[in-house]
Amino acid sequence: MKSKQPVSVVTGAAGFLGSHLTDLLLSRGHKVIGMDNFVTGSVDNINHLGGNPNFRFVQQDVTEFIFLEGPVNYVWHFASPASPIDYLKIPIQTMKVGSLGTHKALGLAKFKKARFLVASTSEIYGDPLVHPQTEDYWGNVSTIGPRGCYDEAKRFAEALTMAYHREHKLATRIVRIFNTYGPRMRLNDGRVVPAFVSQALTNKPITVFGKGTQTRAFCYVSDLIEGIYRLMMSDHHLPVNIGNPREMTMLEFADAIIKATKSKSKIVFKPLPQDDPKQRKPDITKAKTLLKWEPQVDLADGMKKTIAYFRTKV
Ligand code: UDP
Repeated sequence: MKSKQPVSVVTGAAGFLGSHLTDLLLSRGHKVIGMDNFVTGSVDNINHLGGNPNFRFVQQDVTEFIFLEGPVNYVWHFASPASPIDYLKIPIQTMKVGSLGTHKALGLAKFKKARFLVASTSEIYGDPLVHPQTEDYWGNVSTIGPRGCYDEAKRFAEALTMAYHREHKLATRIVRIFNTYGPRMRLNDGRVVPAFVSQALTNKPITVFGKGTQTRAFCYVSDLIEGIYRLMMSDHHLPVNIGNPREMTMLEFADAIIKATKSKSKIVFKPLPQDDPKQRKPDITKAKTLLKWEPQVDLADGMKKTIAYFRTKV
């Protein structure tokens, strides 16, 4: 008898977002085939799925041809380094997974007649000249700067996804993910949340880059994954921002972390990395209207869970 259970392929399933997405899909009755090559993902993020009959893991670099037997209904392409220090270290792999990896994942979706969703990013807006960022803003990206490898790979991924949509009539979705935080972020991935929290928990100086006046807006991971799930299940093929619009400066964020952890850490200022976006905040009107989605978890609650997780890691 043919199984009615939906089958999802998640690339980057051992990563921060991929593993949370996998958990959500399993909880909603999907069978999940997770793929990862562990370049930035970790087996710790999927260990709890060992023995789950609805989960299968394939260790593979998704820039290589993907061969899978049986039906696939959804392909979620999440494989990619995502932290600035990661993609500075491995810029070529970052470009390959965003370009060749997206091509292979789209090819799989086309062959299986599956629906495809690509994890794009607020980085495609670069150092934005429009604030907050709406989906119709084309962005301000340096092709040759240190972040170009990530930004341009993701821009290419969006363009290729639209090409498959137009030429092959593939059902495609593009989510632009803004800064996200929560358990399973890598302690040493260099991003501001693990950096500040681990520094605060060990009473080491909090390293604020530049003057700390640059802004970000942080979304708790469960909110983000719910928004992405809704987008996949919608019929909207154009990009949708998913993120939390509560914007703050990095200096405010450092203070909030010091308070939340009751840390003795002092703030120190380090040079601002090249091309660091000065401000970022999603306009989520589209997600609210189309998906009836908006974030539910406020920063204090989300940080409590995140800090509890990092306490077990420092
Ligand atoms: N940042 C910082 N100290 C750190 C790490 C990051 O002040 O130890 C700043 C960084 O310059 C940026 C913001 O925090 O303005 C967010 O950086 P992150 O690496 O998390 O990701 P981005 O949003 O830049 O992709």
